[in-house]
Amino acid sequence: MPSQPPDPSPPGSPDGHRVVIVGAGPAGLTAAYQLGKAGMRSVVLEKDDMVGGLSRTARHGGYHFDIGGHRFFTKVKAVDDLWHEVLPQEDFLTRGRMSRIYYNKKFFDYPLRAANALFGLGPWTSFLVLLSYLKSKLFPVKDERSFADWVSNRFGRRLYKIFFETYTEKVWGIPCSELSAEWAAQRIKGLSLLTAVKNALLPQRTGGDKGSVIKTLIDSFEYPRRGPGMMWETVAEKIQEAGSEVRTGADAVRVLHENGRVTAIEAAVDGHIERITGSHFISTMPVRELVHKLDPPPPAEILRAADKLNYRDFLTVALIVDNPDLFPDNWIYIHDPDVKVGRVQNFKNWSPEMVPDPQKSCVGLEYFCFEGDGLWTMDDKALVALGAREMEQLGLLRAAEVEDGAVVRMAKAYPVYDGEYAAALAEVRRWLDGLPNLQLVGRNGMHKYNNQDHSMLTAMLAAENVLGARHDVWSVNVDQEYQEEITREEAERRAAEIAALEATQPKVPVPLGAPMPDPMRAVLRYAFARLHKAALGTALGTVGALYVLATTAWVLWRGGPAVEMYLGLLSQYFIGYTVSWTGALIGAGYGFVWGFALGWLIAYLRNLSLGIYVQWIHRRAEAASLGNFFDYI
Ligand SMILES: Cc1cc2nc3c(=O)[nH]c(=O)nc-3n(C[C@H](O)[C@H](O)[C@H](O)COP(=O)(O)OP(=O)(O)OC[C@H]3O[C@@H](n4cnc5c(N)ncnc54)[C@H](O)[C@@H]3O)c2cc1C
Repeated sequence: MPSQPPDPSPPGSPDGHRVVIVGAGPAGLTAAYQLGKAGMRSVVLEKDDMVGGLSRTARHGGYHFDIGGHRFFTKVKAVDDLWHEVLPQEDFLTRGRMSRIYYNKKFFDYPLRAANALFGLGPWTSFLVLLSYLKSKLFPVKDERSFADWVSNRFGRRLYKIFFETYTEKVWGIPCSELSAEWAAQRIKGLSLLTAVKNALLPQRTGGDKGSVIKTLIDSFEYPRRGPGMMWETVAEKIQEAGSEVRTGADAVRVLHENGRVTAIEAAVDGHIERITGSHFISTMPVRELVHKLDPPPPAEILRAADKLNYRDFLTVALIVDNPDLFPDNWIYIHDPDVKVGRVQNFKNWSPEMVPDPQKSCVGLEYFCFEGDGLWTMDDKALVALGAREMEQLGLLRAAEVEDGAVVRMAKAYPVYDGEYAAALAEVRRWLDGLPNLQLVGRNGMHKYNNQDHSMLTAMLAAENVLGARHDVWSVNVDQEYQEEITREEAERRAAEIAALEATQPKVPVPLGAPMPDPMRAVLRYAFARLHKAALGTALGTVGALYVLATTAWVLWRGGPAVEMYLGLLSQYFIGYTVSWTGALIGAGYGFVWGFALGWLIAYLRNLSLGIYVQWIHRRAEAASLGNFFDYI
């Protein structure tokens, strides 16, 4: 391929700026769309032959399928507004979500419910499950470090193996005994427990109520009638209507920089290299790739740090099935250890328009893998045959009904958070900070395991930065000065949105050995301070002492036999007390002792009752959050 080619870039906006964006997934397209609305032209380079990234909708013979089904759900108004600005309301379907767990030829409710699980497992297995639960209560794993220990201690080993182990290991390819308990605990910490305690102690506010966020996420969501690709293809059209470019089949291969600024990107297009210059650059490509594409290359330690960023890959096998009605779910989690498939989507149940012939169905079988492993390298025909065989083995369809199939491989579908990633990413970021006209946004762009809305928000902030704002994209922090005219209420609403945004993002497993904060203690510290027994005792003791002293002094000063008589009765409780100056001092001593004892007791009882209450909420929150755990994988 020839290098140093001419610059075919489109003209920039009238003030001469040109923004070059790598990747036409939700993040890259959102950035270009927002810039276009502000009159700033950009060019989006996409290496694939279609837009949408992980949120694309693939097509095969008139059938549509996603890379996993994509729910449109957000608590961020700006994101929701963009979606509805791009597609009219009639293009959105509101779907009541239905998904179940499949295990041992039976379906179980999802989110998990104890009675349904026990009933479905049958009397003998349920008995064993109860025994194993009792064992976990009587003899819990003392040093609860792994995800396996954590769940087993709460549900018993047997239930853990049925409902947690197989699917988690399929998704991440790591034994649950090597995943930190923090992964499960962080869900509780961030959501239900905190919310429950706050709701119990403070007046309820609807804006940032994360409990309701989760419920909504589970119960219903929006979905474009021809899949998420419909959204992203329309955004790409609108970007081009605004005078910018979206170039598919353009693989960014080199990121040129000089004197602390990125100057151009070279892209491989149709077998030759094109150089696209610009004043601002936004990258959504995986951080590891970006670092290796820098020219001149960064120091060796930065390249080594980038190499420590790892990914889990993914492939979808779509099967076209000659059967109009396979099962009612949007998707099913496959907990059966005898098959490799992890999750099955029934796209017809997402939207009837995903299937051109109502007599047929289109199912998407999700296989989690590593690039280059046995599944990844298997040829498409063999994968379609494997999918059909496994579906028959599960009893979900007959292999003979499968008429056709297609495979989409998605490398780097999941950024992995292993023991080394955080330090490595921080090191890479520090170095990239030296190139201030290059912004990293999106899921792989920031090595952040997030949903569309989070990717889009980072892109919106980056676009505003190009236009003069100074948002911190990494902490999704909004620069209030830039939004001069917003009111305090508006600022508070946005802060609540961002908190809710974080709460709805998936959680990535953390390996053993990563620091594990105690969620309970964090919440206790946050929600209420424990009363200090000695401090409250001293305070009430002092009040008691002063009260007796002042009352006696007042009687001594004012005199009067009746009052003196009543006060004298105190001597029955305070031995040695008399209505005299000496008695006042003795009474003050008694007042202090009784006041101290009362204060100490109040503090003790209050701490104890709140402790029991929080413990109770904690247990409930754990059970609830594990019930919908896979929503966040
Ligand atoms: C199985 C699965 C299910 C999901 N379900 C949901 C869901 O229900 N709801 C939801 O909101 N989110 C969901 N997500 C997350 C969602 O897909 C992502 O958050 C979103 O697509 C990220 O957008 P992005 O633009 O940051 O990255 P991507 O979608 O990864 O897009 C990046 C783009 O950059 C391109 N690119 C990379 N390198 C180069 C290069 N060198 N040159 C040119 N182009 C390049 C890629 O080809 C890609 O098109 C799901 C993800 C997965 C994997």
